[in-house]
Amino acid sequence: MSRPAIAHVRLDAFRHNYRVAKHMHGGKALAVIKANAYGHGAVQCAKAIDGEADGFAVACLEEALQLRQAGIKNPILLLEGFFEAAELPEIVANDLWIVIHAEWQIEILLKAKLTKPLYVWLKMDSGMHRVGLNYMAYEQAFISLSGHVNVKEIVLMSHFANADNLKSEHTLQQIEIFKKVTQNLAANEVSLSNSAAILGWPQSYKSWSRPGIMLYGADPLYDTKTPLRAVMQLTSQIISIRMVHKGESIGYGSIFIADKETIVGVVACGYADGYPRAATSAPATVDGKTTKLIGRVSMDMLFVDLTGIPNAKVGSTVELWGDQVLANDVAKAAGTIAYELFCNTKRVQFKYSDN
Ligand SMILES: *Cc1c(COP(=O)(O)O)cnc(C)c1O
Repeated sequence: MSRPAIAHVRLDAFRHNYRVAKHMHGGKALAVIKANAYGHGAVQCAKAIDGEADGFAVACLEEALQLRQAGIKNPILLLEGFFEAAELPEIVANDLWIVIHAEWQIEILLKAKLTKPLYVWLKMDSGMHRVGLNYMAYEQAFISLSGHVNVKEIVLMSHFANADNLKSEHTLQQIEIFKKVTQNLAANEVSLSNSAAILGWPQSYKSWSRPGIMLYGADPLYDTKTPLRAVMQLTSQIISIRMVHKGESIGYGSIFIADKETIVGVVACGYADGYPRAATSAPATVDGKTTKLIGRVSMDMLFVDLTGIPNAKVGSTVELWGDQVLANDVAKAAGTIAYELFCNTKRVQFKYSDN
């Protein structure tokens, strides 16, 4: 038997979630599949919806070329545009859309000799202060790009810093600034909403949405009633069972000390697979029954408490996240977010299904 740690990626769930996102927001939806589709496999995910996706978004040219080489014909947006002028010929040749987020990019674009004009998403910094043109310089940037021979069309865009916090006023302030600055600009296409905004901020709805994490089934608002399906199910098996007596410890650092006779299952999955080492008491299921991790997560193995699961045996299936165990809950136990768990998943076998 080979090592039983498996990431099952259900492409039908990915497609379902894309439809949920698009329907909820209305308008067109750019499926964000940067970083290898948040660790799920960009080509597989793109192919699962290439017949219906309005477009895809990735982080860089290399990620876009991987999709083009796999035969993906849909529009693809580079979320940070180009990093140097030398990328422009390939961007044009592969029909990619670019974000323009900085003055230096505008200078390069205006001077470049392109064989075709580019489709530009002009990004405003409306309050996140990461990338994007300062909102006071935005109108001028729009004017210098619109009508230029290198620019085919301009989509107005901005990104939220706190859309996952429904109590924060920040999102409304960003929407307000964006509205003020863009109200006189002659543009037909506008995009503000990431997943959290699609789920929580209908005031942000414009012609394009940019769902990411919700496509993978994790609700950034932690609302368990959202009709999303988990795409990745990370499972492994119990490879050893032992009894520890009161006062005995298990694993590195002996951080778990039994306060009673405890049955411990050793599971073939560890932090080298991307399972977070910090998730020392995260939930897991064994043959469908809920339990939790105990002791330190090690590189290749982790421990689960089998005390309440007398039928568990070597070979029992352990779900680490997926349908029974929310990736959000494991992330919370580790002090991180589901995004990071998915992106970090590696070494395990990836098995794809589409029903
Ligand atoms: C990653 C990204 C998204 C998707 O964000 P989610 O929170 O995963 O929905 C949308 N827009 C931009 C600019 C991004 O970088």
